[in-house]
Amino acid sequence: MSSSASSASSASSASPSYPASPHPLAAYGWDEGWETEFAPHAELGLLPGRVVRVDRGQCDVVTPAGVVRADTEFVVPHDPVKVVCTGDWAAVDHEGGDPRYVRALLPRRTAFVRSTSSKRSEGQILAANVDHAVVAVSLAVELDLGRIERFLALAWESGAQPVVALTKADLVPDQVTLAHLVQDVETSAPGVPVLTVSALHGDGLDVLTALVGGGTTVLLGQSGAGKSTLANALVGADVMDVRAARDVDGKGRHTTTTRNLLPLPTGGVLIDTPGLRGVGLYDAESGVGQVFAEIEELARRCRFQDCAHESEPGCAVRSAVDDGELPVRRLESYRKLLRENQWIVAKTDARLRAEIRKDWKRKGAQGRAAMEAKRGRLR
Ligand code: GDP
Ligand code: ZN
Repeated sequence: MSSSASSASSASSASPSYPASPHPLAAYGWDEGWETEFAPHAELGLLPGRVVRVDRGQCDVVTPAGVVRADTEFVVPHDPVKVVCTGDWAAVDHEGGDPRYVRALLPRRTAFVRSTSSKRSEGQILAANVDHAVVAVSLAVELDLGRIERFLALAWESGAQPVVALTKADLVPDQVTLAHLVQDVETSAPGVPVLTVSALHGDGLDVLTALVGGGTTVLLGQSGAGKSTLANALVGADVMDVRAARDVDGKGRHTTTTRNLLPLPTGGVLIDTPGLRGVGLYDAESGVGQVFAEIEELARRCRFQDCAHESEPGCAVRSAVDDGELPVRRLESYRKLLRENQWIVAKTDARLRAEIRKDWKRKGAQGRAAMEAKRGRLR
């Protein structure tokens, strides 16, 4: 929202009908950085826009000229992770082209990627250019710190700043208990703001809004954690209704579609895609490292570089556990997530190996068939 009148000039100079200030895309996260990235495309006479939704080779892009539908044919990459997705900033054709095309995507700042089961190198892109990942955690059930750490790994991995929102705070009326719960989570979340919210009473929503203000936010968390309720509270209306209504005032004629990028009344946008809602942990090794930053920090002081923090002499991690500085639960959780991560990698590799084997078998069978045929001809 820091977009100034001057930063709006280059995009709006093409058409005097656009308001000079603020930039028409400011509400969607346009800033000076994007302005700079977009400059070469502006020179080519292209329109900047943010992808609000993608489906079957086309996408909806919100531009200074409203929501336009554009074909993605020219930006189809070999790598599925680079495929156009909700949250991308794009350069699209001006009016006149039918269909219009997305001509380029601006380099992503952050990306949520889900690894697909088929090949390790391939992933599915879920959302791009997310600034804040709010991990919703229900206070209605017992805290599962391991699960929180898992979602935090996912958030860090994307490049977004994680925030933990302990939801349904109205169910914990005792402030001392609430403070202890926050403290427990804070211990498991170095570098992560932890706050409590109640969508029911509206408590804490202003703090959350201020934290994520202006940027692009996603909500992560288990089913039942209160994500939909929180999304509705942030957007200020029923998200499903908003999606339907926004489609009606969009320029397109399509009416059955859903928007996955929703502007917030206080500035910034919420990305809410079905894929993100069900997301779990996958190749998030560097993310795991950030969740357990204090352990990685301690490990630097271990005598052996490859210390497994089991029974090695001079292990700084074990001695921190012994001194009561590091909860043993943290160390175990760290190990568990690392193991799980390795298991996922091994599993996908195993699948890859199986695919290669299958391929060989098929080739082998083809080879044998060719041999048989040859023999038949020789007979
Ligand atoms: P989602 O699966 O993460 O999207 O979770 P929902 O938003 O659907 O919420 C799950 C349940 O928790 C619903 O029954 C909500 O009514 C309830 N819930 C959500 N937020 C609050 C809250 O602030 N206070 C209370 N008491 N219940 C809530
Ligand atoms: Zn060690």
